[in-house]
Amino acid sequence: MQYYSLNDHSRKVSFADAVVQGLAPDRGLYFPASLPTPGKEFMENLGQYSDHEIAYRIIAPFVGDEIPENVLRKIVADTLSFPFPVHAVEKNVYALELFHGPTLAFKDVGARFMAGCLGYVLRNDKRPVTVLVATSGDTGGAVAAGFYNVPGINVVILYPSGKVSTLQEKQLTTLGGNIRALEVQGTFDDCQRMVKSAFLDTELQQHVLLTSANSINVARWLPQMFYYFLAVKQLKAQGKEKLAFSVPSGNFGNICAGILASVLGLPIDHFIASTNVNDTVPRYLHSGEYKPAAAIATLSNAMDVAAPSNFVRVLELFQQSFPALTSKLTGYSFDDAATVAAMEAVYKADGYMMDPHGAVGYLGLKKYLADHADFTGVFLETAHPVKFADTAPPSLQPCIVTPERVRELFSKAKQSTLLPADDAALKSWLLAQ
Ligand SMILES: *Cc1c(COP(=O)(O)O)cnc(C)c1O
Repeated sequence: MQYYSLNDHSRKVSFADAVVQGLAPDRGLYFPASLPTPGKEFMENLGQYSDHEIAYRIIAPFVGDEIPENVLRKIVADTLSFPFPVHAVEKNVYALELFHGPTLAFKDVGARFMAGCLGYVLRNDKRPVTVLVATSGDTGGAVAAGFYNVPGINVVILYPSGKVSTLQEKQLTTLGGNIRALEVQGTFDDCQRMVKSAFLDTELQQHVLLTSANSINVARWLPQMFYYFLAVKQLKAQGKEKLAFSVPSGNFGNICAGILASVLGLPIDHFIASTNVNDTVPRYLHSGEYKPAAAIATLSNAMDVAAPSNFVRVLELFQQSFPALTSKLTGYSFDDAATVAAMEAVYKADGYMMDPHGAVGYLGLKKYLADHADFTGVFLETAHPVKFADTAPPSLQPCIVTPERVRELFSKAKQSTLLPADDAALKSWLLAQ
């Protein structure tokens, strides 16, 4: 399969090159040159296939012959090594739980799949490759866990000292092995700037082979389709028709994967982009004007994104047609007060604990269902509530159950290197490795 840059459709590369490069040299996101579908018969009979078979059949044409079937099947099996249950929360309201993976958030899926693909594609490279990422929390942990022990790949994660949760820091700093954590004495923006400057530094590139594991990478974006198929399979088995999916969105990678699945023929009738007060897309869907504002910090901090990088892919999926886009996608935004109120109300009424991101998704779904009562609704619960326990309302904190494997993590020692928030400091650290 070939991929083109959204900035220049004539600039095409292979799947392998798209994975290694992340972003095209012209700074465009890569997009598949065709959208191969496994067919109507397959879509209507998902219940007859195993989860791994479904995932393999969807992804295989997007990879093409660049990864052999047995290797790709193994990558799929490693990616889907935990369950994706659809949990009934209220009448007509289901939570698709994406937090049963190693770092308790949906980013595990993309990170594991990308690690498998990159490990294979670079298998014959003599020099070790360094995956360099900046994280504000969830991405770093998922990338660390996904790439842990992948031969030939070192991972260097920059995170802002004191600005990630205790649990997130443990996930970044306790693996050891091929995973190194750099604790930057600055903000997430400093970390991002340092990573960018490393990628632009040609002298550095001659000594260290750098690549990114950024959320715009096609190998992180595409496998996120898997769980939409698995959710539809579960709901169809219960006789549910006419489905609406509400996706708590920040960079819009996750919802974009769902929309791609529906373009391929998966029967999802409507999508709801649910955001916190960083509402660039809901405003755009309402007014037709795309005007990103400055990012605002919220309780659902993995969605504090003012200029969602994957939205250009969403537009491409609708062939730049605004009417086509708005007939399939509705956007709503909610503030922290509404988010907390929903977390408390749902726990009280239904005994279901949501994290702040899932709660935004729940709110968007309820708002849509209020006018569309004939739909069955699903919201994506993108993280386990324990990941955001620090900022949960005091009334809920004692009720959040900590999974066993998280408790183990707290007993492990943190290993990190302190670094000033300075581009030159990162460069000399990388050169000294
Ligand atoms: C990253 C993240 C999101 C936002 O996902 P996008 O693909 O960036 O829209 C939502 N919830 C959680 C918990 C996340 O970690």
